[in-house]
Amino acid sequence: MNQVVQQKYETVIGLEVHLQLKTETKIFCGCANVFGREPNAQVCPVCLGLPGTLPVLNKKALAYAMKAALALNCQINSFIKFDRKNYYYPDLPKGYQISQYDNPIASHGYLEIPAEDGRVKRITIKRAHLEEDAGKLIHDEGTNSSLVDYNRTGTPLMEIVTEPDLRSSQEAYDYLQNLKLTLQYLNVSDCDMEKGSLRCDANISIRETGDPCLGTKTELKNMNSFKAVKAALEFEERRQQKALESGERIVQETRLWDEGRGATVSMRSKEEAHDYRYFPEPDLVPFVVDEGVIDTIRRSIPELPQQKYKRFRSEYKLSDYDANIMVQDADVANFFEACARLYPQPKKICNWIQGPLLQELNARKAHVRDLRMTPEYLTTIIRKTDENVLSNLAAKEAFQHVMETGKSADEVIEQKGLAQVSDSGILESVVEEVIRDNEKVAGQIREGKESAVGFLVGQAMRKTQGKANPKILGELIRRRLLA
Ligand code: ADP
Ligand code: MG
Ligand code: ZN
Repeated sequence: MNQVVQQKYETVIGLEVHLQLKTETKIFCGCANVFGREPNAQVCPVCLGLPGTLPVLNKKALAYAMKAALALNCQINSFIKFDRKNYYYPDLPKGYQISQYDNPIASHGYLEIPAEDGRVKRITIKRAHLEEDAGKLIHDEGTNSSLVDYNRTGTPLMEIVTEPDLRSSQEAYDYLQNLKLTLQYLNVSDCDMEKGSLRCDANISIRETGDPCLGTKTELKNMNSFKAVKAALEFEERRQQKALESGERIVQETRLWDEGRGATVSMRSKEEAHDYRYFPEPDLVPFVVDEGVIDTIRRSIPELPQQKYKRFRSEYKLSDYDANIMVQDADVANFFEACARLYPQPKKICNWIQGPLLQELNARKAHVRDLRMTPEYLTTIIRKTDENVLSNLAAKEAFQHVMETGKSADEVIEQKGLAQVSDSGILESVVEEVIRDNEKVAGQIREGKESAVGFLVGQAMRKTQGKANPKILGELIRRRLLA
């Protein structure tokens, strides 16, 4: 049944992402732009919209937005003009939001997401513009009253709107992941959905497969994680399919995601009716950004995750999976490359980073910068394992000690006596002793019972407190008893 429905209908999704830019100050005044302060601790007459005040554009906010737009392959509109979007709501003290209407700073961009068999799909970015955030209402059920916090008022926001290019909830999820990663590389936003620094409205419609016209869309709001966006889209996809199947019409409306119920709920319809009476913002004079300034911003863009991914695949021959993990954090990627320069064993390095290193990072909720492990120490451990100086177990131990003490790998190996004994002179005498103490087993080996060699190796390991190189021990025992 589900199969039939999926073939019959095609899902169409477009996303609108609001991104708080992490400038030090707000977009039109000097108030601090910090999350989590006590309510109304960072407000001034400008962001409170008091009469007689004038906004002044924060250059940093413009530069951050342009940087993000360039990284998203957008065309930059150097003519900067702001507009007023008029509406009344208690969290908007001016009675209008300063935004951009007919002259967004950027348009015609794209972001790549993974497609089948290692290919990529380009999602077109229709436009991106700069605006200010509103305050926040806190509805206190206990006292049956509503409170307002204006700390967020005037936080620089960038809105990034896609064309309706996405075809599944998974593609929407991948788009958000890649968008977040790109923006984090640029260091222009925290992109934390839980703290509201990245917010996503998802538009979705269904149409019969092959139909060139778009179906009627609904707009989903109130999701506070990427998973919630995916779940909301999946619910809505089924709801619309069922409605169409039973001959109902889809109503254009905004629906809220109810996380507890796992359902979208109608909030308001007649979405077409909104009339914001946009008009040019008279307090901010339009201006043109110098091409040189835009070039400087363009040059400040680092290698982006999608490019890095491709390079890691070809340069280090990493698998799709490995390369993906290595580029999830620019600092982890740099750590990996620093290791690979010191010791060209990318796959082994990758395994150590994916395993012990990332586990430690997650457990400590730390950042790779904060760790005591350095590329020098990690590659020393890996090299010494390859040279049979460290057993796998001893290598793990050395790793842990470096993490805890910050001492160098060599120092830790020395102090903790982690190096394996490979010196055949010492091992010969151990083997001799073990054979003497286990005459019966030795006899069985002489008669050809090779499986018993392991027992003697075990005994020898015990004698050396696990420090002997078991491979060499095995060889020595075999040579003495089987030759
Ligand atoms: P609105 O004026 O309602 O905000 P826009 O044309 O600005 O609509 O589009 C808002 C978002 O909705 C964009 O991301 C766009 O890609 C998406 N969108 C538009 N039409 C549809 C549709 N029929 N189905 C799914 N998404 C759509
Ligand atoms: Mg819209
Ligand atoms: Zn202010």
